[in-house]
Amino acid sequence: SEKDNSRNNNKPDTSFKDVAGLEEIKEELQETIDFINNPSKYKKMGAKIPKGILFYGPPGTGKTLLAKAVAGETCSTFLYASGSEFVEKYVGVGAKRVRTLFEKAKKDAPTIIFIDEIDAIGTKRNMESNNEKDQTLNQLLVEMDGFNTDDTVVIIGATNRLDLLDEALLRPGRFDRHIYIGNPNMKAREQILKVHTKNKPLDRTVNIKNIAKKTHGLSGADLANIANEAAIIAVRKNKNKISIEDFDAAIERVLAGLEVKNPTVL
Ligand code: ATP
Repeated sequence: SEKDNSRNNNKPDTSFKDVAGLEEIKEELQETIDFINNPSKYKKMGAKIPKGILFYGPPGTGKTLLAKAVAGETCSTFLYASGSEFVEKYVGVGAKRVRTLFEKAKKDAPTIIFIDEIDAIGTKRNMESNNEKDQTLNQLLVEMDGFNTDDTVVIIGATNRLDLLDEALLRPGRFDRHIYIGNPNMKAREQILKVHTKNKPLDRTVNIKNIAKKTHGLSGADLANIANEAAIIAVRKNKNKISIEDFDAAIERVLAGLEVKNPTVL
């Protein structure tokens, strides 16, 4: 998958062009990008680079993609980590992994550290006592407070549940910028579908706008999935172009899959 690939390829060539819709969010991230690209400009003015940005919202809306694009736009190293990878049976292992991650980030700076599912380590500490998780979270806070802003390291966290996060994580100097990334509206769905059909042969029956109209409530990941399923269905029928019937079948298939996962989704 793209995520696995990003682990090996530390300098992604993903750019904002690969992220459809989300124009306001890209606008908001321009400042961070400029910080990373021109640190001296900000240093002269006595401004500090923001360390932590939190993306929150439903799954599959492009949080990982966007973080990778910020790395691509700044020629930064991209380090992917998932919160769940840090929480181990043995106390201290997670904390050590956090230390190692930041060491690597500083060594290869400028770096974007992306921590997906940050709630796995960052939920409110009073909700249940978990020594390993608490130590991991504490280490993350220590690292975020500790590095000086001469190291151009920006940490982007992602979660579906902002409300569960420990307030210590959200304080100034830590994850103090919160950006909501929701499901795409019709215009954004159209743009996402365009990105994901760019290299696919479509016949004249396919009207992307109409498909965008029919896919209300679906995420970018679902739309990418639909475009791919439509192509697979066309191949199975030995066609050389994808038609609207293939898309309709793909939509049905993806919707059926979503209903199995979550019966209340639609
Ligand atoms: P999760 O919360 O499940 O980790 P996420 O918000 O990080 O999800 P991504 O992994 O970035 O979502 O998105 C999955 C895939 O969906 C992307 O690799 C891309 O193919 C597609 N996608 C999602 N949003 C967009 C978008 N705005 N533009 C283009 N493609 C998108």
